[in-house]
Amino acid sequence: MIEIEKIENCSLIAGPCSAESETQVLECARSLAKAGVKAFRAGVWKPRTRPGNFEGAGEPALEWLKTVKAETGMAVTTEVANARHVEAALKAGIDILWIGARTTTSPFAVQEVADALRGTDIPVLVKNPINAELELWIGAFERLAGAGVKRLAAIHRGFSSYYERIYRYSPEWQIPIELRRRIPGIQVICDPSHMAGRSDLVPLLAQMALDMKADGLFVEVHPDPSQALSDQKQQLTPQEFCNMTSKLVFHREPGAADRKFMQPYRSQLDDIDLQLIQDLADRFNVTGRIGEYKNLHNLAILQPERYKAISDALTEKGKELGLDEEFIRLLFETIHAESIRCQINKKNTI
Ligand code: PEP
Ligand code: MN
Repeated sequence: MIEIEKIENCSLIAGPCSAESETQVLECARSLAKAGVKAFRAGVWKPRTRPGNFEGAGEPALEWLKTVKAETGMAVTTEVANARHVEAALKAGIDILWIGARTTTSPFAVQEVADALRGTDIPVLVKNPINAELELWIGAFERLAGAGVKRLAAIHRGFSSYYERIYRYSPEWQIPIELRRRIPGIQVICDPSHMAGRSDLVPLLAQMALDMKADGLFVEVHPDPSQALSDQKQQLTPQEFCNMTSKLVFHREPGAADRKFMQPYRSQLDDIDLQLIQDLADRFNVTGRIGEYKNLHNLAILQPERYKAISDALTEKGKELGLDEEFIRLLFETIHAESIRCQINKKNTI
């Protein structure tokens, strides 16, 4: 069990993808401080998927972040990927570190960062690994906690996929939900910028994340995104950022009146869920009986025509009732897979 302590000032973190020059960093920081941002992000060392792109201004940029902190009072945060980065960032008095998505995929790199952090008490944000592998994400927290880092939080920035998609990185909202279950009390901050990959989709994802109970947002903002040296398409201008935050709905905890309103609906849902479980149990009982018959009479368990007929009929019915087609297809796929498993089990016990 990982012991986590809360990190302050992480409900709204914003700043450019990369620290490009002192002027760019300060211009951006001044407008964000005015907008109420409490922590300023900027990448000093940029891990690039392909060589030949801008790889960050390196150590000199730490001085610019020191100036941001001194001038605006915002906390400053940057990405570290090895022991040398950690040492330089600590020496510069950076307040919060983050581990990037490409680094989280590498246990050796995470261990190196964790070892370099031993004996310090700086907060660390860990981005999800670029591939949808929850265990790697959890492994990074375990390595850091093992080195004595207590203030840890997660950044959910989406997962890579080979296929065409609307978002640059797919959110897979179920993964941070499972992370919260596995590491109780962990703060999950959403990075809608890398997830969207397009500035116009950032506000939508930011609101979705808040609706999913994100504890904070991590947003890329550049004074002039069209001139940015990295991640041009997804960075907001300071004005766009202010427009977004003025419209975002930050949620409150439900109070007594809210609970009173929801109570009858909740008990109705509880009854429906119980009925669903009962119906599923009845369904698998019937499945079992057909399974026995198929065994006795040498019939194959899988009957593809029957499967297709039921799946089509249910999807049609679902559509009529206003249910999502994809949802019905997936639900039935899961139920059918379980029926097959039950029938195979029966066969093994005969
Ligand atoms: C970044 O935050 O600029 C960055 C490099 O992010 P990620 O590691 O999520 O790609
Ligand atoms: Mn970026």
